[in-house]
Amino acid sequence: MIKKVLIANRGEIALRILRGCRELGIKTVAVHSTADRDLKHVRLADESVCIGPPSSLESYLNVPAIISAAELTNADAIHPGYGFLSENADFAERVVSSGFIFIGPKAETIRLMGDKISAKEAMLKAKVPCVPGSEGATPDNEDDCKAMAREIGYPVIVKATGGGGGRGMRVIYEEGSLIESIELTKTEAKAAFGNDVLYMEKFLQDPRHIEFQVLSDKHGNARHLCERDCSMQRRHQKVVEEAPAPGLSEEAREKLGARLVEACIQIDYHGAGTFEFLYENDEFYFIEMNTRLQVEHTVTEQITGIDLVKQQLLIASGEKLDLPEKIKPRGHSIECRINAEHPKTFLPSPGKITLFHPPGGFGVRLDSHIYSNYTVPPYYDSMIGKLITTGDTRETAIERMKGALKELVIEGINTNIPLHLEILEDEDFRAGGPNIHHLEHMLENT
Ligand code: ADP
Repeated sequence: MIKKVLIANRGEIALRILRGCRELGIKTVAVHSTADRDLKHVRLADESVCIGPPSSLESYLNVPAIISAAELTNADAIHPGYGFLSENADFAERVVSSGFIFIGPKAETIRLMGDKISAKEAMLKAKVPCVPGSEGATPDNEDDCKAMAREIGYPVIVKATGGGGGRGMRVIYEEGSLIESIELTKTEAKAAFGNDVLYMEKFLQDPRHIEFQVLSDKHGNARHLCERDCSMQRRHQKVVEEAPAPGLSEEAREKLGARLVEACIQIDYHGAGTFEFLYENDEFYFIEMNTRLQVEHTVTEQITGIDLVKQQLLIASGEKLDLPEKIKPRGHSIECRINAEHPKTFLPSPGKITLFHPPGGFGVRLDSHIYSNYTVPPYYDSMIGKLITTGDTRETAIERMKGALKELVIEGINTNIPLHLEILEDEDFRAGGPNIHHLEHMLENT
């Protein structure tokens, strides 16, 4: 069993990992930038090491500094959290070649799923439904590209195989702009990801975003832990997430879930992972796999009763999954991402939190590292916490969330709490199952 974990992250997720370790009797090492000395998990960790200046490039993305910190503190494993180095296959490789356990899948699996063309190929092989499109890269020849787009049917989307974060993709509505759009996307992809290989697929007009959580051990056992609906997005960033997905039948869940369990075994997946899908007209279309813990893992924990961080630690330690064959959702859970930003302009709002008062009560969970007099630094992501409510029904979870948001006091900085209250009153959101454009439309109309 792993005895000491270095947490290569910051903020709420670093605290979440620390809490998981603590329950399993695992010692923790916090690494932090000079701007993050006062983070809650740094204070709670058994040991801490400053790894560099505020800039992420020189701290949380600084591989040699992180590896040195692990050596210095005699850690035996590294948990990458989400963001930063969590999906960097070279980092995972370095961790292992330096003699540590990487809490996540093998570097080769991260590489396979990080390249969108190879990921899609692997999924097609595992009979996971994908968006219809080019199998492999777009052709070099203009006529072949045109023929391909015609066969797929407009609108099509071209996407960079090395892309991420919603960048490196372009929607094309008619043949006249196809070639020019491909060239433009190639140039952008080369500049952003150092790789100009593109692929093409059907552009789905009004899908929902539904993703499945999986856990897979090193002994060929895998489970799916049901799905989450993360359709409420602004600029491809999730704002509200929930589980299970409103209106999804038990039959549809089990049908796709069983395929994904098979897919995990086929790709020899180790750890926690998420298969992301677009969902339109009762059909699922795979878009990508996240080979790490996700921000919204909490809602899955709430409806399954399974601690995903603990499971990651057990799997990385070589334990066999000890979970029921079928994991059924119980009740409904919603997560609101609390950001330090203006609720209307979305401008980041770093600064000192003069007063913090958390909400509480039955079915209320707050995952956050903030406290009164904590200063939110300007250098990182603006998310300062996640408020999660759970109830027997979706309606209860929504009402509970409204109460909890009203109870939550964060003074001194702006937050998006007012936006969440608006979302919870939105008729379409309340009805359940709006598509991925809904929040943007809602924002345009207010
Ligand atoms: P990234 O890795 O950059 O997040 P994804 O492949 O996950 O890229 O796509 C990001 C978002 O782009 C999706 O959540 C969806 O909103 C949109 N998108 C991607 N592919 C399609 C498609 N085929 N049809 C419609 N929208 C798409």
